[in-house]
Amino acid sequence: KKRIFSGVQPSGNLTIGNYLGAIKNWIPMQDEFECLYCVVDLHTLTVRQNPAELRQRSLNLLALYMACGLDPQKCILFLQSHVSAHSELAWILNCYTYMGELNRMTQFKDKSAKHSDNINAGLFTYPVLMAADILLYQTELVPIGQDQKQHLEIARDIAERFNNVYGDTFTIPEPYIPKIGAKIMSLQEPEKKMSKSDENENAYVFILDKEDAVLRKFKRAVTDSEREIRYDEVNKPGVSNLISIYSAVTGKTFSDIEKEFDGRSYGDLKEVAGQSVAEMLRPVQQKYNDLTANKDYLNSILKENSEKAAYMARKTLSKVQRKIGLLPRS
Ligand code: ATP
Ligand code: MG
Repeated sequence: KKRIFSGVQPSGNLTIGNYLGAIKNWIPMQDEFECLYCVVDLHTLTVRQNPAELRQRSLNLLALYMACGLDPQKCILFLQSHVSAHSELAWILNCYTYMGELNRMTQFKDKSAKHSDNINAGLFTYPVLMAADILLYQTELVPIGQDQKQHLEIARDIAERFNNVYGDTFTIPEPYIPKIGAKIMSLQEPEKKMSKSDENENAYVFILDKEDAVLRKFKRAVTDSEREIRYDEVNKPGVSNLISIYSAVTGKTFSDIEKEFDGRSYGDLKEVAGQSVAEMLRPVQQKYNDLTANKDYLNSILKENSEKAAYMARKTLSKVQRKIGLLPRS
């Protein structure tokens, strides 16, 4: 079985972008692959966090993973900070990564423009920690959205560089990008991706948003001044985003949707798409509420799963330490 690693930051409430672009696609993979799904809490430290909230959000994200259908019997669900090998390997890989490579990362440019009061070194070396996350588990496939493609590319480069110097050490990971719903755009600025850390709350729909909020946000979605419902990313980004969300939720093709809405109004499309999303979220929210009521259970899952992950990670880390000349602990 091929091995898969992926993760989400507990940096805020998850959006339907995270769901349709990431987690939803992870569910069927559980049966086909050996999967590790991580709550990447260390990554969130690149932006200042409220400690109590971060703790809460990390545990809640585990509950949300499970509410979406990830099964801790079938895959390994754990917290990044519970497996110290992530930080240890990240430091080593920092020394095999060039400033010039990191300088090219568009996420660094975007995020440092947004958080100009706190452009810390962690924000800059974020892709190296992500490389460590992936390479530690000898990951073969990484399901990611388009926004993470550049980061996976750098993980591959670092792995190849290391392998060239020390011989085969890391598996070179491949991206696994699903075709439909791979990128959900902001409802307010449809040329930008939907992001859980957007300042404008009408830009995103949270997985945990109540039905009336979902419908309201869809109603306010930005479209264009024409009337025709047609998929055209370049000239009609807002309408195209609504079509692609509706398609990702229902499995209908773009051309079927265009036929369904032939002669109908933008208002109809917003309402139908919004309703389909609300319906999709209902069972997830129900399960989430049940799970978060039982913190002990969630903590026991974390303990058991992080032990499994740590065992796998340790194997790679020891190999790396030995190859580069660190004296083994005996
Ligand atoms: P942040 O703004 O804090 O970076 P985010 O919404 O981008 O939050 P991440 O935790 O960075 O979320 O990403 C988690 C996963 O969700 C990644 O696999 C990423 O590719 C995917 N993802 C994030 N936003 C979208 C989106 N708008 N459409 C599709 N997939 C997305
Ligand atoms: Mg992101």
